[in-house]
Amino acid sequence: MWTSMCPPCTLIWCTPSCSRVAWSMRSLLRICRTAIEGQADNKPTPRAHSYTKYNSWDKIQSWIASISSANSALISKQVIGNTYEGRPMTVLKLGKRSSSTKPAIFMDCGIHAREWISPAFCQWFVKEALSTYGSDSQMTSLLNQMDVFVLPVFNIDGYDFTHKSNRMWRKTRSRKSGSSCIGADPNRNFNAGWCTLGASSNPCSDTFCGYSPESEIEVKNVADFIRRNKSIIKAYITVHSYSQLLLFPYSYTYDLAADHSELLKVAQGASAALRSLYGTRYTSGPGAATIYPAAGGSDDWAYDLGVKYSYTFELRDTGRYGFLLPESQIKPTCEETMLAVKYIAAYVQKNLY
Ligand SMILES: [Zn+2]
Repeated sequence: MWTSMCPPCTLIWCTPSCSRVAWSMRSLLRICRTAIEGQADNKPTPRAHSYTKYNSWDKIQSWIASISSANSALISKQVIGNTYEGRPMTVLKLGKRSSSTKPAIFMDCGIHAREWISPAFCQWFVKEALSTYGSDSQMTSLLNQMDVFVLPVFNIDGYDFTHKSNRMWRKTRSRKSGSSCIGADPNRNFNAGWCTLGASSNPCSDTFCGYSPESEIEVKNVADFIRRNKSIIKAYITVHSYSQLLLFPYSYTYDLAADHSELLKVAQGASAALRSLYGTRYTSGPGAATIYPAAGGSDDWAYDLGVKYSYTFELRDTGRYGFLLPESQIKPTCEETMLAVKYIAAYVQKNLY
């Protein structure tokens, strides 16, 4: 499967070694088209938003509006800024209304455009939170005591581009005069060991770190929001694909985080909870040693800001379909990931600091 030649998450799928492989362009395109069409195996295609399909940005945007207006007792929304191309970045706040400020968890999906299972998970999480509040004791307790901020799609411009033009796009869509290359890698653009390791200063690279930390407006909007709410945000969860990993700081250095043992213990518990449903195996550990060193990531940045429980999920699979995970796997992937996220949330709730 050609997708297995695509390194997970970080790199472009045509590395120099890759391009030496003697694929004829025609057969590559044929395999590529088949693989992309193979994602849409949950048929028939409904016009409406669906939790078991990869929704376009337009559908997600209407879903954000309708789900928040239909559940105003438990959900509110806030635009934290616009993307480079002017799309509103809306954070949903889930939680029982309270007169006092509650501790919170921040979760984002879709930092990388082509990792479609990630925004699908954020939508699933919102649905599950709303539909199990009042019946599931853990969710009820969580939303009574804490708020969960959810950013369903971080890199909206890139996500929209993957639906309309190039399925394998990863970066933002920002332009800079003097360069014909578009976008930077938002997960190399945070101010955490910025551009020192596992990132490129070449604007044409898929891991381009940007012209300066937070040069990407989407990164700046999220970083500003987290800084503004620093005193209440107790956990940061960011969702990527693929590789089946649960990572925590650091990625910009091989040094262990001050809270390494606790972060590892919680990650292992969350991975075990995830595995209990369908047997899906996750590996957990610090980013640099577990996957590869990479500076400028959001989890390292949040951790250094003081958000102790900072985790990166790399969802299904391990390379068979890669970024082109079939829609039939959305439901089981989201169900098992819910168990891991709820495990982390329950731990944070019991260990507020
Ligand atoms: Zn990613």
